[in-house]
Amino acid sequence: MQYYSTNRQAPDASLQEAVVKGLAPDRGLYMPEVIPSIPKAFFNNISEMSLQDIAYVVANTLFGQDIESEKLKNIVNETLNFDIPLKHVNGNIYSLELFHGPTLAFKDVGARFMARLLGYFNRKNNGEGSTVNVLVATSGDTGSAVANGFLNVPGIRVYVLYPKGKVSKIQEAQFTTLGSNITALEVDGTFDDCQALVKSAFMDKELNDRMQLTSANSINVARFLPQMFYYFHAYAQLAKMGKPLDNVVVSVPSGNFGNITAGLIGKRMGLPIKRFIAANNRNDIFYQYLQTAEYSPRPSVATIANAMDVGDPSNFARVLDLYGSYKAIAAEISGCTYTDEQIAETLKDTYKSAGYLLDPHGAVAYRSLLEGLDGNETGIFLETAHPAKFKDTVEQIIGERIDIPAKLAAFMKGTKSTVKMSPAFSAFKKFLLKNA
Ligand SMILES: *Cc1c(COP(=O)(O)O)cnc(C)c1O
Repeated sequence: MQYYSTNRQAPDASLQEAVVKGLAPDRGLYMPEVIPSIPKAFFNNISEMSLQDIAYVVANTLFGQDIESEKLKNIVNETLNFDIPLKHVNGNIYSLELFHGPTLAFKDVGARFMARLLGYFNRKNNGEGSTVNVLVATSGDTGSAVANGFLNVPGIRVYVLYPKGKVSKIQEAQFTTLGSNITALEVDGTFDDCQALVKSAFMDKELNDRMQLTSANSINVARFLPQMFYYFHAYAQLAKMGKPLDNVVVSVPSGNFGNITAGLIGKRMGLPIKRFIAANNRNDIFYQYLQTAEYSPRPSVATIANAMDVGDPSNFARVLDLYGSYKAIAAEISGCTYTDEQIAETLKDTYKSAGYLLDPHGAVAYRSLLEGLDGNETGIFLETAHPAKFKDTVEQIIGERIDIPAKLAAFMKGTKSTVKMSPAFSAFKKFLLKNA
């Protein structure tokens, strides 16, 4: 399968090229040239299939031309070695819990799949012993998902750049205690400094001649497309529960819109979802777009659902490309926007009345279903992170202490190891060349 750029000014790319490049040379985002259909018969017995088996069928439909089936099966099985259960919360509303992976957030799925796909292409084309270097700047959560996703994958080295003293202890522990092929660089500066270092590295000719450099953010097709697997699995679980399947609504807590875009492409491939809700906090660029038909990015503001504090969602270009017009977008996707007070109120009420503890991101999506679901519809919201990842916020809202899951606590027991780095590019470049 070939991939084209949403800006249409770059040559088409193979899957491997799209994965290695990340962004197209014309700064557009790669999209699959054809959105293949999954046969209708697949949905007849989907309720009997496991997450891994469903994911393999979907993966094979998308990537089957580019990877041998046995290899693809291994990549899928290794990626999805944890559960993604659908739990009843209230009325017709269900939570798809995407937080049972290594770092307790949905980004684990895309990061783990991408790591294995990149490792596969690297071995196939460059042979054993060659190394791909993944550079990732993080303000907290992306670094942990990528570092853990790529941990111990042969042929890959990961450099995580983070601003010294500006991420929480628990976030820091998730990428500074791993060792092996993961190196954490503690930059004496801000997140913007970290991002600037990574950008400069990608543009530096000498570095790129001497070593293979790759990014791992959500614009990468290998990170965003695999996120559609769990939309199919959610549908399968509804089917297994014997729930009505003809009016399913999915609400997705959205920041850069990678997660929801994967679901939208899943629908185009045949997954019978009636409509989607893109759930926003006060960074409601997409909600405003739906109201006005004008896309007006603006600087982000800080909220308690901070993984959605995005002022110019990078995957908006893909949504527009997929639908082609405002009218088509608005026919299938609605929006919502909530303040911190509304998010906190929903989190607290749901805990007290339904006994279900939401995280601040899931709370945004859950509220959109409470307010926007018709009587004959069944609602699923994506619970994108475990509430303990936002321990201080959540405890303050509900007025109770919450437990830290063993998986998170284990990171805290590890020994922190970092390389101190100045925000000057010359120092970063020297360091990378020394390790090349
Ligand atoms: C990254 C993230 C989001 C936003 O996902 P997008 O794919 O960027 O829209 C939502 N919730 C949590 C917990 C996240 O980490």
